[in-house]
Amino acid sequence: IGEIDELSVRFGSTEVLKRVSLTLQERKVHVLSGPSGSGKTTFLRALNRLNDSFGDCHTTGRIRLWLDDQPVQLESLSQARLPYLRQRVGMVFQHPQLLPGTIADNLLLPLTVVAGLSRTRARERMEQGLVQAALWPEVAGRLTAPAVSLSGGQQQRLCLARTLALKPQILLLDEPTASLDPETALQIETLITELSRQLTIVMVSHSPEQAQRLGDHRLQFERGRVVSGH
Ligand code: ATP
Repeated sequence: IGEIDELSVRFGSTEVLKRVSLTLQERKVHVLSGPSGSGKTTFLRALNRLNDSFGDCHTTGRIRLWLDDQPVQLESLSQARLPYLRQRVGMVFQHPQLLPGTIADNLLLPLTVVAGLSRTRARERMEQGLVQAALWPEVAGRLTAPAVSLSGGQQQRLCLARTLALKPQILLLDEPTASLDPETALQIETLITELSRQLTIVMVSHSPEQAQRLGDHRLQFERGRVVSGH
């Protein structure tokens, strides 16, 4: 589903990714490991062109993703197509990035404003997202409660639900279990395995055991290069 060819990313004069080439396989879990600062998050962000939002970022190389059965060449994608890209390649950040407002607002706003769905369609998708992220029926009676009233693990799953509601084909997860207790972390791991039956996952993990458990493909980053992958 993805071909990355000689991807290099530089912030100012610091080269963070150095000629990274790899292939992403459809409906597989790719786990990126490596020391802090080795470029894992930058690699994830390159896959939906989020690094563009940093003014001093310079990217070279080629990324081709197959989205809706069409090849999409990321470096030549126009600004106007970025919302499409970011729906099809959804990202959940390491720390929950909630929108202000209620639990429902967090799900409905992207669906109505970004995806342009009707209120009715958006509500259907909201429920689907909550089911997929194992938050339904847990939060069914609390949709109008402030999103910040959820526990840390629930907030993480809310962010996952919000991304899944947009029906991505590729899901980028940056250390999805890092800030969770062991029980909630295992719950998220189970979810990731279930989700990989339907979509392609690229995730960062600092835990070798987790990489072993979840990864169909494990990629080791070091100082901006992929030093091993299988
Ligand atoms: P961690 O495991 O700590 O999250 P990482 O492997 O994900 O690390 P990145 O976050 O990709 O590493 O960062 C790689 C390097 O790029 C770091 O040295 C970081 O300081 C630098 N970097 C990342 N984003 C920016 C930015 N917007 N501007 C300048 N430097 C940046």
